[in-house]
Amino acid sequence: MQRVMLALMLASLVLLQGCLGGLRDSVTDALPEQRGIPGGLTLACLSSAQFTDMVIEIDHAPGYAPEATTVELLIDRLSDVCDKPNGVKAVITETSFDQDGSWSADDVRAQALEHREAPPMDGTTLRWHVLFPSGGYDDDNVLGVAVNAADVAVFRDSIDDAENILQRPNAEDIENSVTLHEVGHLLGLVNLVYTSPRDHEDPDHPGHSSNEDSVMYWAVESSSLGAIFSGQLPDDFDDDDRADLTDLASGDLDAEQQLWRP
Ligand SMILES: [Zn+2]
Repeated sequence: MQRVMLALMLASLVLLQGCLGGLRDSVTDALPEQRGIPGGLTLACLSSAQFTDMVIEIDHAPGYAPEATTVELLIDRLSDVCDKPNGVKAVITETSFDQDGSWSADDVRAQALEHREAPPMDGTTLRWHVLFPSGGYDDDNVLGVAVNAADVAVFRDSIDDAENILQRPNAEDIENSVTLHEVGHLLGLVNLVYTSPRDHEDPDHPGHSSNEDSVMYWAVESSSLGAIFSGQLPDDFDDDDRADLTDLASGDLDAEQQLWRP
């Protein structure tokens, strides 16, 4: 009898390990501290060694669907800088979040986890996740946030408020730039998981570009952008951002705090 029990226990242990191996990221999802920092899946995007395609999962509150131009911009830019031979696509889902009004970073993490369709590392698919909720961030100067290695949120209500200050740039342009800016943080920009040999991080705004022609310029995610950009908002990475990504992809630049390595 005891032998049978032991055999059963061993069998279930093997089964459990098998599951853990196959569902590594479900396990990390269960432990918030292990879901990584923005930039923790940079190499997973820049390499096709495991993840040959990419899904941008977009979950939006009713009435908060992103602009088509925002979705196109994300696909274009990620296809350009990441190595995904089987393509980058967006999957857009209307979602009822259990939260509106004011969001903290923890709220974004919890709702992202709750509504995510699959883990970030899903077989050969890398999945990044963009939330478009109603309401705004704790700090109402913030238009978008990146909260861990795969999750960002963009606050359209706050963007509409920012637009109302000057009427230009308009809300669609702001949404384009803010969303790409947050996804740029998932790519580790600027200096989030590496130290660039190029001097382009703004010392007064760590993690951001000092170049106002880069989408990673610090003011892009801030409601003060209306006061700074009277015309065109940046909607692309600049040469320094791209050079950082090239060096990270080649291994010339060390990437730290990675959840996955080639
Ligand atoms: Zn930022």
